[in-house]
Amino acid sequence: MRAFALEKTRNIGIMAHIDAGKTTLTERILYYTGRNYKLGETHEGSATMDWMEQEQERGITITSAATTTQWNAHRINIIDTPGHVDFTVEVERSLRVLDGAVGVFVFGAKGGVEPQSETVWRQGDKYGVPRLAYVNKMDILGADFENVVGMIKDRLGHNAVPVQLPIGFETTFSGVIDLFLMKAYSFSGENGEVVTEIEIPADMQEKAEEFRTGLIESIAETDEGLMEKYLEGEEIDVPTLKAALRAACISCQIIPVFCGSAYKKKGVQKLLDGVVDYLPAPTDIPAIKGILPKTDEPTERVASDKEPFSALAFKIMNDEHVGKLAFFRVYSGTLNAGSYVYNSTKEKKERMGRIMLMHANNREDAQQVFAGDIAAVVGLKFTTTGDTLCDEKHEVILESMNFPDPVISVAIEPKTKAGRDKMGIALSKLAEEDPTFKTHTDIDSGQTIIEGMGELHLEIIVDRLLREFRVEANVGKPQVAYRETFRKASDVEGKYVRQSGGRGQYGHCKVKFEPMDANDSEKSFEFIDKIVGGAVPKEYIPAIENGIKEAMHSGIIGGYPVLGVRATLYDGSYHDVDSSEMAFKIAGSMAFKEAMRKSDPALLEPIMKVDVTVPEDYMGDVIGDINSRRGKIDGMEARGNAQVIHAFVPLAEMFGYATDLRGKTQGRGTFNMEVHHYEPVPKSVQDKVVGTKE
Ligand code: GDP
Repeated sequence: MRAFALEKTRNIGIMAHIDAGKTTLTERILYYTGRNYKLGETHEGSATMDWMEQEQERGITITSAATTTQWNAHRINIIDTPGHVDFTVEVERSLRVLDGAVGVFVFGAKGGVEPQSETVWRQGDKYGVPRLAYVNKMDILGADFENVVGMIKDRLGHNAVPVQLPIGFETTFSGVIDLFLMKAYSFSGENGEVVTEIEIPADMQEKAEEFRTGLIESIAETDEGLMEKYLEGEEIDVPTLKAALRAACISCQIIPVFCGSAYKKKGVQKLLDGVVDYLPAPTDIPAIKGILPKTDEPTERVASDKEPFSALAFKIMNDEHVGKLAFFRVYSGTLNAGSYVYNSTKEKKERMGRIMLMHANNREDAQQVFAGDIAAVVGLKFTTTGDTLCDEKHEVILESMNFPDPVISVAIEPKTKAGRDKMGIALSKLAEEDPTFKTHTDIDSGQTIIEGMGELHLEIIVDRLLREFRVEANVGKPQVAYRETFRKASDVEGKYVRQSGGRGQYGHCKVKFEPMDANDSEKSFEFIDKIVGGAVPKEYIPAIENGIKEAMHSGIIGGYPVLGVRATLYDGSYHDVDSSEMAFKIAGSMAFKEAMRKSDPALLEPIMKVDVTVPEDYMGDVIGDINSRRGKIDGMEARGNAQVIHAFVPLAEMFGYATDLRGKTQGRGTFNMEVHHYEPVPKSVQDKVVGTKE
């Protein structure tokens, strides 16, 4: 009953920085794969994958919806990966559920691969995602295929090997040469749908031979058997070569490089062939790892229909027609619509009421989903992004995702009284969709605060409030999400005793506190229980830990969350009658506050890794400006006739940078940034920060 065998499934993403042509390419793919009936030009704002209006206006894709298509008797699910670094977490979460990706590169106007491509590409490295490279915009002025291949090698450190060569370049770009078959192809018809085999142009024959030899050598280098044959001068047939390249691509030893022009509708079909030929099926990659919820023992789920059902919810979206929609990837087993699953992350049963396959322009109800499938389900009550859904009798928690904490916050206020309730509901819906977006009410001021990963991130949230929920809101000035940490170890006591008639309170603990690396995203707090001989009864130990954790929400410098602390509970005492969980919780919190006073605490600020690309002439101004923003220059490199300046700059100094840079460079400078680490704030700045907070 499977429409496509598991081996014939490809779950892929298209990775690119903004403007590389991802939307155009995706749209062409959807057209050729037959599910999208009309081609719209992306710049006119009718592209299929951009679900939300403001994405089209801003030209960025910020959702990770998935679309199901087919090509050459294979099922291809395309998971949308956003290109903007403000949405790093969206990129990461989509990378988690895909098995392979196409990286789109262009030879930028400034000469060379854009720094943003690097950021996106390196995220693929982090997850070991097998990739193809597609060199797009072969029709534009300055298009240079070999240069881009060189850059992928030099700058990104990958073994990029062309499997095609472009015929012509700029306005004369007309088709591609397949280096395996030594055949050329042209693309014609209104929508480039007619692919015609042509002869390799005579003046390119020699170059094609040369590149073919290079391709075969590269493949042989990854396979001993082939190397022997190659050295002995034996002819190796194409299917053998392709199989070896497939293996090398899946093990990330080779990045096969394709080329074309998405806009001029050239080369896309051959890239799709490449997806089928070289990117892995779910069965080609290692089984997904997980843990058994009760014991934390490691386990795994092999991609097979015969295994118990397991799936990962990777995207929650509020859809105006059907309500809350959860996108999930099935890792193992099968599931019928209408049946129950267990959300092992939340420890809740959920009913998979209506399951849908999302095609480009329609939704298809699915009666059953299988291992490797990507689908959406309506009606889940408890599930949020990153949760595992599994067979109740075979519980598992799949590798969960790590979401970074927000670094910026602003106060937000509805313009009308009536908007107040609506805003509350809307914000909680948006937070449900996006784990890096948070909202809370400030206890002191009563204001609603929203928190996110950058200015643009929050701007888009405010925009969505207006468009999707019709709530007009005023926002305050963005504030940096500072943190606090310990610098010195201490050994403290927390004792909470009340004896005023009736039943008293008694909680007492002795705890050693030490600083830990505040930049360890995996572990910002550690609690070690070293109680021996029942000095503190077992049932009160979690209360002490909770007391410490709660106290850590608000440090003593400026009331910011505290991180990078290890607490070792080693002694204490209790009272037979008066002790309670509450008393131990308070004792834990008292111990923490005492330790913090003794710890020579530091205020930490987020430091951004900033890459600015500017023409030579503006270098001096831009560097001077970065220095005045307390930035540290980390290096520079020439990129064509532009310079890329790498720097680390405190987030607090980066507000409004986009506008400032534009002004300083007459619009010719571009930059991108992402959160890199936390660092102690200089004393003079700290005084200002804490001063303004009060
Ligand atoms: P995205 O931001 O990566 O989704 O990029 P888009 O698909 O929106 O493309 C950005 C711009 O580049 C649009 O104006 C496209 O029409 C244009 N574009 C995309 N692909 C090509 C191409 O192959 N050649 C040319 N000349 N323009 C292209």
